[in-house]
Amino acid sequence: MSIGGMDMAQIIWGNELATKLRNHMKQEILQLQTEGKRIPQLVVILVGDHPASVSYVKGKAKACNEIGMLNQLIHFSKDITEEELCDKIQQLNQDDTVDGILVQLPLPDHICTKKITSLILPEKDVDGFHPVNIAKLQTKEDGLFPCTPLGVMEMLKEINYDVKGKHVVVVGRSDLVGKPLSMLLLHADATVTICHSKTTDLVSITKTADVLVAAVGQLGLIGKEHIKKDAVVIDVGVNRGEDNKLHGDVRFEEVLDQASYITPVPKGVGPMTITMLLSNTLKAYKKRGM
Ligand code: NDP
Repeated sequence: MSIGGMDMAQIIWGNELATKLRNHMKQEILQLQTEGKRIPQLVVILVGDHPASVSYVKGKAKACNEIGMLNQLIHFSKDITEEELCDKIQQLNQDDTVDGILVQLPLPDHICTKKITSLILPEKDVDGFHPVNIAKLQTKEDGLFPCTPLGVMEMLKEINYDVKGKHVVVVGRSDLVGKPLSMLLLHADATVTICHSKTTDLVSITKTADVLVAAVGQLGLIGKEHIKKDAVVIDVGVNRGEDNKLHGDVRFEEVLDQASYITPVPKGVGPMTITMLLSNTLKAYKKRGM
């Protein structure tokens, strides 16, 4: 896109792509209803009243309702014992009407997160945190994989960008975003470089990226100096600015005439994350075939 003789990046609107994909899933669920089949169901478990977690689970319920997916919120007080939580998960594992189980993180300190995420049946693990799903991602087998990385891959697909042979730099190496995304990109034949807080001379690496993914959580970390001309920039970061608004890791305005495509914050990767949660639940439903 050229504005005033300057090439400006095209914006990848995650909210628009999310709407498109959700409409598609809504049609699929309507079809199931028409055929008198069981409707897919997601169960979200919330422990405590952490405001951000409460807001996330509300967003998930709303998204399910919009596409006609059954959903249930199980809300425990922060004092629930690990054993009680385990019992509930085991019960949901055995419930054939439940396709996806998601435990909203973080959990209180007295509950072991790894133990809980490993207890959810891999076939119902719609967050993709179970060791079996992590292994499947490593070995390129079909499984349920983390939602934000899946959302990023959908965004690249939407702009018909084939990462094969391209240099993709992922800044951030978390189990939630950076690592699983790097693996998906590798399986799509990208040459992947992963950067993190101990990386020296970040600019010299990001500057060679055909696709730059920022998944750090530091407002404005990435600027024009980090970006090769016409690179695709995917901003996963969500940070609250001094203006009390949400901003990414990328200085959006500054890089607009450097990048070829860029995702905004908000309305970028965020809506895609919930969309891929719905997609994972639908996938789990289909794979379980009941
Ligand atoms: P983590 O805090 O778990 O990981 C952050 C990563 O960034 C770490 O690997 C860390 O390195 C690295 N890092 C920190 N500082 C620097 C630096 N100066 N230079 C290079 N790398 C650095 O965060 P998450 O992966 O969970 O989330 C990342 C961001 O994405 C957050 O803003 C989060 O809110 C957002 N997010 C957005 C989602 C969405 O749907 N839009 C979903 C999930 C997350 P090291 O490993 O060395 O500590």
